[in-house]
Amino acid sequence: MTTQNPHIFVTRHIGDPALQKLQAHFDVQVNPNNRVLTKQEIIEGAKSAEGLLCLLTDPIDADVIKACPNLKVVSNYAVGYNNIDLDTLNEKGIALYYTPGVLTETTADLTFALILAVTRRIVEADQFTRQGKFTGWAPDMLLGSDVHGKTLGILGLGRIGLAVAKRGLGFGMRVLYTARQDKDLPDFHFSTLERLLKESDIISIHVPYSPESQHMIDEKAFGMMKKTAFLINTARGPIVDEHALVSALLSGRIAGAGLDVYEHEPTVSKELLGLHQVVLLPHIGSATLETRTAMGVMAAENLIRFFSGKKHENLVNPQIFR
Ligand code: NAP
Repeated sequence: MTTQNPHIFVTRHIGDPALQKLQAHFDVQVNPNNRVLTKQEIIEGAKSAEGLLCLLTDPIDADVIKACPNLKVVSNYAVGYNNIDLDTLNEKGIALYYTPGVLTETTADLTFALILAVTRRIVEADQFTRQGKFTGWAPDMLLGSDVHGKTLGILGLGRIGLAVAKRGLGFGMRVLYTARQDKDLPDFHFSTLERLLKESDIISIHVPYSPESQHMIDEKAFGMMKKTAFLINTARGPIVDEHALVSALLSGRIAGAGLDVYEHEPTVSKELLGLHQVVLLPHIGSATLETRTAMGVMAAENLIRFFSGKKHENLVNPQIFR
């Protein structure tokens, strides 16, 4: 008697090493198009699948989950899983895996690149040079703000927040942080959100997106910040009220912003596109070849773990096994 391998639907090609791992264990079907699938296309692909490997751009909501009666496991190729309706998965006893840790240092590097780019006006200076405006050194040309000696405020001292905090320490910064619990770390100071907003020169967001963190940075929060402060967001767009951010930048309430994520991604508000004091990236926090390969392999291994019955810390909802 032959037993069939579980059927896995993969919503986008995620690299050959991951695909080869999947193909060694499963009957794999991959979205052949190099684009985000519509909800209907995800349902079409996954309706008979037992496993789904998806991306942060795929809304795995109650409609999708209920339209896939054989689904046993979802493996999200991301550390944030706000694109997935976890309550419905729990209700249906479907496992959810994610890819924590493997992208921490890469995302922290990108965060620091944004901090340096926005404070030292790197993008503006590059454009200035390319436009032939560099006609000689000048004492007042493209003056920025120092990073060393300043206060870095980390919202959410988890894996990525801590990696950014360590980089801040290396740059001679004082580091304040928020988290749900005091981490009792000698080099970093646990703070209330209010104190962090008032005292920080650079505020960097690293909390997960949830109903609790939606618009955590709103008009009131901008009102508490220093006029010389910079806001960095490499977490998720809706944590910041983008309308309030635009107002704060236009009115000079804060000095600038470095953004990798947007409230209505992939749409970027027109006002932001017109501002010189912001650096805008297209959600590339984890985008290195090494890290994206490792994320793909981890997402594939998470499916292999599930079907071989092995418990693992990458499982978001271990209670479904009880
Ligand atoms: P993590 O280790 O779970 O860290 C999250 C931190 O946020 C924890 O310290 C947690 O506090 C804190 N936190 C949660 N809710 C909070 C609240 N309401 N108020 C204050 N602090 C709160 O997650 P991570 O691996 O660092 O990833 C963080 C986020 O980065 C992900 O969820 C994802 O959305 C985003 N991300 C973006 C990119 C990108 O491409 N731009 C790449 C990777 C990740 P406790 O420690 O006390 O629980």
